[in-house]
Amino acid sequence: MLRITGATLVLPDTLIADGAVDVGADGRIAFCGRQADAPPVDPRGQVIDATGQYLAPGFVDMHVHGAAGHDFMDGTPAAFEAVLAAHARHGTTTIVPTNTVGRHDQILAFLECCRALVRAGPDASRGLPRVAGAHLYGPYFAEEKVGCHPRLTRPPTRDEYLQYLAYAPDALMVATCAPELDGAADFYRDAAARGVRLNAGHSNATWDEMAAAHALGVRHVDHLFCAMSNYVSVRTRFAPPYRGGMLEFVLATPDMTTEIIADGRHLAPELLRFAVTMKGADKVALVTDASRAMDMPPGAYRFGPTDGGESFYHDGEVGLTLDGRSLASGARGMDHMVRHMHRVAGLDLPTAARMASLTPATILRIEREVGSIEVGKLADFVLLDQADLRVRSVYVGGAAIPMA
Ligand SMILES: [Zn+2]
Repeated sequence: MLRITGATLVLPDTLIADGAVDVGADGRIAFCGRQADAPPVDPRGQVIDATGQYLAPGFVDMHVHGAAGHDFMDGTPAAFEAVLAAHARHGTTTIVPTNTVGRHDQILAFLECCRALVRAGPDASRGLPRVAGAHLYGPYFAEEKVGCHPRLTRPPTRDEYLQYLAYAPDALMVATCAPELDGAADFYRDAAARGVRLNAGHSNATWDEMAAAHALGVRHVDHLFCAMSNYVSVRTRFAPPYRGGMLEFVLATPDMTTEIIADGRHLAPELLRFAVTMKGADKVALVTDASRAMDMPPGAYRFGPTDGGESFYHDGEVGLTLDGRSLASGARGMDHMVRHMHRVAGLDLPTAARMASLTPATILRIEREVGSIEVGKLADFVLLDQADLRVRSVYVGGAAIPMA
């Protein structure tokens, strides 16, 4: 039993000063509210005074590739644990490991690691957050929108993808496919039949192709504005009239959700605000899209597997292609995204934090378990200093992770 007291609670729509949270022996929230309204402290329990801090829900990252020198595509338990522990120190308590384009055997090794960690569950003593399940992200991208991924994109073929979908639904929860590829419709049908959430991304799809994908269950577009189509880019495929692309389709379709990389380098503040204004904070999740360069010094790194990944340059804030002209993945933790949305994009703190917690949890359909500070949910918290919003401590299931 644990009580954290004195903190300002960050709820989805409001702040509660002088708050208190109780965690039961089951690792779930037993009370949250004003300290003055809290039940008597359990004498056998631990009390932590968090005066001067915000107590926010642990962050949920649904699009993330690596950190601390490792990429999930390295495909080993040691690499996975290093990435997970690094993100947990930035406040992420639920993580959806995301592969890159790669060889078939590399993607299978990635999925195998995901399954082992989903089954093992979180381990706060070793700094390991929850692994919700994998995001199969590529290899089914449009070649012209491959971005910084290894040049091994291919259209979905049943022989190959059924081996990936065998990990669904527990170890594989989300899959991205470019709608215009041959075989995309079959892929969406087969994935949906196994309970996998469907995304469109790395695509130059037209409005009509997006509408067909939507009819098959696609409800989310990866990293809004990045590696996706709009009315200008689809002109490379079709003569006039101007046609809508993914951007127009997402903005105009109420049940489509999306995500933004709010690192301050991918999108200017007006585009971050534009996304929230157009879709609402409940339909736009913050994602890190972090590569192995996160928490590492500037220098050259590989995006994707050590064996066959694409080289890029990390300038200390973001990944760039070697010619310096294009972005090549994120290098910041989720705490940075929340600070940026609050301070630079100008959102209130509950909304900025919600976009990193309840919004992605709802998109992933795990909001009954995680994503907000609410009685009955898992006690996953991030404590932020009220002065600078830096992460002070992180709890997974009511247990603190080592921060060193
Ligand atoms: Zn991407």
